Amino acid sequence: QSQELSQVRIDYHAALQSLQEEGTRMVCTGKMHTDRVCRFDYLCYSNEAEEFVFFHSNSSVMLPNLGSRRFQPALLDLSSVEDHNTQYFNFLELPAAALKFMPKPVFVPDVTLILNRFNPDNLMHIFHDDLLPIYYTMLQYPDLDQDARLVFMEGWNEGLHFDLYRLMSNKQPLLKEQLKNFGKLLCFTKSYVGLSKMTTWYQYGFVQPQGAKANILVSSMEIRQFTRFLMEKLNVSMEESSSGDEYIVVFSRTINRLILNEAELILALTQEFQMKTVTVSLDDHSFADIVQIISRASMLVSMHGAQLVTSVFLPRGALVVEIFPYAVNPDHYTPYKTLASLPGIDLQYVAWQNTNEENTMAFPDRPWDQGGIAHLEKAEQEHIMKSKEVPQHLCCRNPEWLFRIYQDTKVDIPSLIDAIRQTVKTKPNLKKAKPGIIVHPGKVRDPKCQASVQGTNEARLTVSWQIPWNLKYLKVREVKYEVWIQEQGENTYMPYILPHQNYTFSENIKPFTTYLVWIRCFFNKTLLGPFADVLVCRT
Ligand code: UDP
Repeated sequence: QSQELSQVRIDYHAALQSLQEEGTRMVCTGKMHTDRVCRFDYLCYSNEAEEFVFFHSNSSVMLPNLGSRRFQPALLDLSSVEDHNTQYFNFLELPAAALKFMPKPVFVPDVTLILNRFNPDNLMHIFHDDLLPIYYTMLQYPDLDQDARLVFMEGWNEGLHFDLYRLMSNKQPLLKEQLKNFGKLLCFTKSYVGLSKMTTWYQYGFVQPQGAKANILVSSMEIRQFTRFLMEKLNVSMEESSSGDEYIVVFSRTINRLILNEAELILALTQEFQMKTVTVSLDDHSFADIVQIISRASMLVSMHGAQLVTSVFLPRGALVVEIFPYAVNPDHYTPYKTLASLPGIDLQYVAWQNTNEENTMAFPDRPWDQGGIAHLEKAEQEHIMKSKEVPQHLCCRNPEWLFRIYQDTKVDIPSLIDAIRQTVKTKPNLKKAKPGIIVHPGKVRDPKCQASVQGTNEARLTVSWQIPWNLKYLKVREVKYEVWIQEQGENTYMPYILPHQNYTFSENIKPFTTYLVWIRCFFNKTLLGPFADVLVCRT
């Protein structure tokens, strides 16, 4: 490794002088430790202390300068998992003058992105917590280009899918352990610390039971842009399958959480949908092959588990079928359902749960982390065995959850086919057409109102407006307008949906009254535009 760093030559003397004279400089984005990414010049890392070091000099910058709030609880999250107390980043401070008494620093010349991977042995975590956030953090900062260096500080070894991390830039990523090879004090010339959380859609249940994130900020555009990048790097062709070549993929697990009658299931799927069915597993296929196969499949059938994150590679219109073991309620574990429901992603989704206890195979005698419960008290073991549904729980060591989720399942095939049939009536339908781009309307323009009094009890309000400016450039299936009318001083309003650009309201309109009128446009039932400035209309 050590030759590798010296590939990019830097003027050692000049770098050392800069560090001594200018010290460390830090400028961050984000108001809170949970949404912060920081950019540093000359951030150092002491392999002895296993701490990052900020060197103060006259020209140091530390923004935000939080004082000791920097420790409450941390400057930032080093992984994309929100506020996890094992993933915090902070640094020690020293005066630059202390450098004279310290080991000579080794400089890392590459622009580096420093982060923690959350669980690099698990494919869901790899994609959701690491690869997507790395990709979009790099996109946010132009100098994190293809020559950027990734540095993983969580302290794990390479993990099971290190090749995927290697695709993110042209330089070999560095592990914390490897930093030791470079010397006692390592200084990153230019670095970014932390990850954007913008693309994550799931929270794993550290503070409340797991589920979709409350405020999802990612859509299919970003997911598919990322998968195109990855497919290109994996040399997977992006040509669409030709019609007549439709097939179903069963993604099988081979170690645990098995489908016990997989052969029978494959036969049934083939017969029912008149399509070929192929099996893939992480043991028998390279990741590139799996991506190639899934990217042209009409249906992906699999046990609940991390391998289902490969749904991101499915073509539009494909169906995800997720199988849940006995006593595991699909509504409580929805990482893949949430994925399949992201705006514009165009995947169909079916969850099927084994509800027949006779069809489950449990393993009470396995180690606890594979769902064993032999270590528990007899009463608790009995309670777990009798329970028909795992109650909601927090991550990650709930024995009842582990016991149930690591069961093997004999799938009741008629029931599964039935569940699929309720979603897809004929063959699953791949969408060959290019997706409609999601565009929201602008404000309606030139809103006006005119009032007339009809008598002591009757009045009318005529409201009109012009189409949003962007509409004239768009082909939109359905354009409608929403008008809210509120009597001034009241808390409630009357909402109307209108197809045209003017309307005369006479119901519930009183003479000699002031009304506030809001108007907005929406496309295709759901794509709302902004309200125009409120109209004040007096009858
Ligand atoms: N895995 C696998 N085959 C198996 C069991 C696990 O390929 O029989 C993979 C799985 O896809 C994931 C990793 O091993 O990437 C960890 O699996 P685990 O059961 O711990 O997590 P889960 O799938 O429940 O997220």
